Amino acid sequence: AVPVTVISAIGAASRFGVVIKSGAAFEQLGAVELVAFDKTGTLTRGRPEVVAVEAVEEGQRDRVLAIAAGLESHSTHPLAAAIVTASADPAPVVEVTEEPGRGITGSLDGQAVRVGSPRWISPGAFSDRAASFEEQGMTVVVVEFGGEVVGILGIRDELKPEAADTIRRLAAVGIDTAMLTGDNTRTAAALARQAGITDVHAELLPGDKASAIETYSATRRTAMIGDGINDAPALAAADVGIAMGVSGSDAAIESASVAFTGNDLRLIPAALLHARRGRQIMT
Ligand code: ADP
Ligand code: MG
Repeated sequence: AVPVTVISAIGAASRFGVVIKSGAAFEQLGAVELVAFDKTGTLTRGRPEVVAVEAVEEGQRDRVLAIAAGLESHSTHPLAAAIVTASADPAPVVEVTEEPGRGITGSLDGQAVRVGSPRWISPGAFSDRAASFEEQGMTVVVVEFGGEVVGILGIRDELKPEAADTIRRLAAVGIDTAMLTGDNTRTAAALARQAGITDVHAELLPGDKASAIETYSATRRTAMIGDGINDAPALAAADVGIAMGVSGSDAAIESASVAFTGNDLRLIPAALLHARRGRQIMT
């Protein structure tokens, strides 16, 4: 049976937005030594915006955006919403297939079209511009028509304002932090630097996030926090999986042992310290 002190501590947590699913989850939460963060939508606001468009041919920026938006209108990826919003006139792309962690393909006027990560489509495309965008923390996607690169987009998703303070608060109580992301190494490193995270794993495919968590949890009690999109396997692999700001039907909520009803990262130190105090009272 779950001790009555734990039941009341779980009740108190739910009143500040932290839903703990079991007594065992409460126990684990109070013993966490490392918190691994998903980047997109967890450390960042999850509201990306297209802030730069480069076309191979002069005067073709709207065309590049139209092709990308025509593909992305079929996707629910956070980058897709940014790209669709940026185009006044999405092209009628058909036969669309999404490649998780890579991008999306389709057909337009009988030609193959693709949008996705540079390393998937063409690592050399606009390489100086792309590197400079990434060093500023932007995500770059390449747009291709008929097997040729036609342009790139620079997309910015800002860090949440409380991110750096949250990392400092965790460090102050001896908790290590790490970032896991499917995004490229340069973008990830730029955002991690702003947040104060030094341990960064980038260019991960969805299954790689779960493997990274298994490696951490072999030596340290590990929490993984994600916002749901593709994060379910990593949440399930962690000692404590925390789903942040997700709605009831999401796969992440099933895979997590803790759920936050809001999106504020300071819920993490608040929840960990609350559970630590609860454990100390019991022992
Ligand atoms: P994250 O770990 O940041 O949530 P994902 O694993 O979803 O990222 O995606 C990794 C990378 O794959 C993205 O940064 C992007 O370059 C590319 N990508 C994935 N899905 C799409 C898409 N629908 N459109 C364009 N690029 C995509
Ligand atoms: Mg994500």
